[in-house]
Amino acid sequence: MNSARPATLCFQRLLPLLIVLAVTVAPCVGGEWKSGIVWPEPPVVDPEPVDGRPADAIVLFDGKDLSRWNGGERWLVEDGVATARGGGISTKESFGDCQMHVEWASPAEVKGSGQGRGNSGVYLMGKYEVQILDSHGNETYFDGQAGAIYKQSPPMVNACRPPGQWQTYDIIFRAPRFAEDGTVEQPAAMTVLHNGMVIQNNFRLVGATAWHKPPSYEKHEAKLPIDIQFHGNPVRFRNIWIRPLVPIVGKKPGESPVETE
Ligand code: MG
Repeated sequence: MNSARPATLCFQRLLPLLIVLAVTVAPCVGGEWKSGIVWPEPPVVDPEPVDGRPADAIVLFDGKDLSRWNGGERWLVEDGVATARGGGISTKESFGDCQMHVEWASPAEVKGSGQGRGNSGVYLMGKYEVQILDSHGNETYFDGQAGAIYKQSPPMVNACRPPGQWQTYDIIFRAPRFAEDGTVEQPAAMTVLHNGMVIQNNFRLVGATAWHKPPSYEKHEAKLPIDIQFHGNPVRFRNIWIRPLVPIVGKKPGESPVETE
């Protein structure tokens, strides 16, 4: 009797500890789960910005010239700034999925109203426009104001700075995917930050943006040039860079490649 009682007491004291151990250890009994996908190593990129840009960015305009753009000779490049005039410009290189940074300023001297005031635009793939407009106290249709995906999605907030001040767009773009027969397998998608604020959150486009007709898709290449619009207003630009987004593609032995998005 004397020897049994201490053993029972000991078990009662240890019971809570045994329960905790059972709960925490039980899920690990089968061993660690692994996907089995063989991934290549993600490239190492210096996270410290070089002149304010990611180390792997392609510089499209650094204030010196517009030599990476067709039509760039028409624009005025002065004091590190490119001013729109005479027509749009188009990158000589083609891009698909990308992260793009653009700094722009509408004219300090306010002229015109609505769509006639500080209008320009960034056309991903030359087809999908993020509107540039002086939307500081300037009424227009909401899906045509600054940061709108033109005539498809107004910005969630109006983050526009006053005329003449520098503003930033950071655009994360996923190109549409088409089947062989031209049907859309995945629509284009855009996330846009205006002056650091998310104004478009993975918006799925319903087609190319146009002012004169409803949006629609037509099958096109996986990569195309990016355009910046001249809409009659001397909108200024500086510090434009882009990072093509290359998915990491892994493979499960004996199965199809697995792509991240
Ligand atoms: Mg425009």
